Amino acid sequence: MMIGITLLIGILLLGALAGLLVLHRRQRQLEEAVREAQRTRRALAAERDRIASWLEGLKPGGVEALLLLDQDQRILWANRPAMEQLNARPGRALLEAIPSPDLETLLNATGTAEIRWRDRWWLGTSWAWSEGWGLALIDITRQREAERARRELTANVAHDLRTPLATIRLLLDELKPADPLPASWERLIGELDRLIRLVNTLLDLARLEAGEWPLAYEALEIRPWVQSWIERFAPLWQAKGLTIQLDLPEGLWVWADPEWAGRALGNLLDNAIRFTPPGGEVRVRAWSDGEWVAIEVSDTGPGIPPEDLPRIFERFYRRDRHRGGGGSGLGLAIARHAVEAHGGRIQAFSEPGRGARLVFTLPAVSEGV
Ligand code: ADP
Repeated sequence: MMIGITLLIGILLLGALAGLLVLHRRQRQLEEAVREAQRTRRALAAERDRIASWLEGLKPGGVEALLLLDQDQRILWANRPAMEQLNARPGRALLEAIPSPDLETLLNATGTAEIRWRDRWWLGTSWAWSEGWGLALIDITRQREAERARRELTANVAHDLRTPLATIRLLLDELKPADPLPASWERLIGELDRLIRLVNTLLDLARLEAGEWPLAYEALEIRPWVQSWIERFAPLWQAKGLTIQLDLPEGLWVWADPEWAGRALGNLLDNAIRFTPPGGEVRVRAWSDGEWVAIEVSDTGPGIPPEDLPRIFERFYRRDRHRGGGGSGLGLAIARHAVEAHGGRIQAFSEPGRGARLVFTLPAVSEGV
């Protein structure tokens, strides 16, 4: 009897002890969960403060939508514009709220990208933080629309000018006075031809930008291709007594559209020849650079001042507008578009007084093609 009671008490005690242990473990788990939540909250607050101080450094109205996401890309926190304009509520999965492939790519890569969502354009920057990802979005719809309007206007004006200019050119040919031609006549025709070239260039640029000009790729061998361009420019460089130096390895091939790649090379050569004073030197080099072939045009002209370097690829940018010299300020803009349409890059280097060096890349023909 005594033994039975002792056994029962023992079992009860053991049961209570086990219960206590489970309770203790649960409490520990609960405390751990609370600590974890506090840690996340602290990290969230710290990240928010960090962004806030970062934002202070930006222009007012710079960044509109801000979001902090967890590792599963679920929204932890969103500012008011993100909630109102993008319907990004905390707790939702971001890609459910904004199912945009551009955004998915941006989150997987981190960095900066343009995101098209509904009728708007956003410039997005993503970064990693301790709990997941951060995302800042700037609404660039207005700029995009202004750019499109400007492009359309230029294309339309150029298009409408083309026919009357061609007609004037024809009529002038019919009205050509008898020999000897007055000097003013030559000038008239010269200026008209310049205007026609400018209009055609603007139209080409508009078509390239609108993607209406699919590139017709073919394998091009660099050496004969560059040589043919040098010959085309012979009257210009010979008249100035320039020396042409070519450093072009044999067997270097690119995969390019000859017409557009030619516009890039042609415009660089045209500038180098135009800006180099008589007796100077223009040099063309090419080399293989992994999956690319780099082509460099350098000269011994006045060079490009450092403050102009970032701007020379802009449309209509000319350093000295009043000096004339026949340039339209479109050459390098076209060269950049043509190179970028091939996926390549174009860069300018110059130390004032020591000439200019322009380098662009085109995709190399891979072995066995
Ligand atoms: P442009 O028709 O005026 O030459 P580009 O777009 O080809 O227009 O060039 C823009 C500007 O860049 C030029 O007006 C000139 O100031 C500068 N530039 C371009 N190439 C050279 C060069 N080789 N040497 C010096 N300046 C150059």
